[in-house]
Amino acid sequence: MRIITDERCTGYSHPGHPERPERILASWERLRAQTELPISWSTPGPCDDAAVLRAHTAEHLARLNRLENFDEDTPAYPNLAAYARASVGAALDALKAARAGETVFSLMRPPGHHATRNRAMGFCYLNNVAIAALEALATGAKRVAVFDFDVHHGNGTEAILLNNPDAAFFSIHQFPCYPGTGTRNLGGNCFNYPVPPQTPRGEYRHILTSALEHLQTFKPGLVAVSAGFDAYARDPLAQGSLETEDFYWLGQSLRNLGVPLFNLLEGGYSADLPELILAYLKGVDGK
Ligand SMILES: [Zn+2]
Repeated sequence: MRIITDERCTGYSHPGHPERPERILASWERLRAQTELPISWSTPGPCDDAAVLRAHTAEHLARLNRLENFDEDTPAYPNLAAYARASVGAALDALKAARAGETVFSLMRPPGHHATRNRAMGFCYLNNVAIAALEALATGAKRVAVFDFDVHHGNGTEAILLNNPDAAFFSIHQFPCYPGTGTRNLGGNCFNYPVPPQTPRGEYRHILTSALEHLQTFKPGLVAVSAGFDAYARDPLAQGSLETEDFYWLGQSLRNLGVPLFNLLEGGYSADLPELILAYLKGVDGK
């Protein structure tokens, strides 16, 4: 298992904000202390503008340099553009690693799946997964699927990939919940699986299974995963029901697709996040 991460993703924070450096610091500690899953660590490479601009407007990219909050959830930080670009660089490296046959996880922040073409929102500034999916298509991939199991709808990814015939988006998320979208399928390539709050765990897994079966009918050559761990039963931001072993199962299920895949961290705000990540990665790695 390759894990792409570095200290740039812990360099910014906002008092009281749930999307905080401790998410990563605690995950580093847990993953470094364990011996069941062999890990090779690497740091994110550069991210060039051309890749970012397939998913975002030039105005949006320029705005990241202004010290002006986007919304209450999504503050501006000094050097924000550099932090956001490091997270994109990790996503692009994850794509390369998947193509080289590795199992790979980008353990970075900020997350990306709420960022639209011209708007930062929901703790997200640049849409890491959409940028990597479009990079894959621009560099020879024929069909790319994005599988988003974060408990929140990946509205930004959907908006960016909408009607792209070579990409398909599958999102399993709580509804009603932030950001309030994702109640129906859109554009013939974006497929939404809304799950009511407090849906029993077995049923939640059943919905995830249906989404995975649906994804297989698209016959992707590559799968990009928006791996959010906030559908966990004890996550403070939503009312999901998944347990640690369900994330293991999810990792295993994605591995069993038999398609190269890369995984990017999105949400996950409980103190158990490091355990959930480890369980998921063991499933992805076939441990
Ligand atoms: Zn989330």
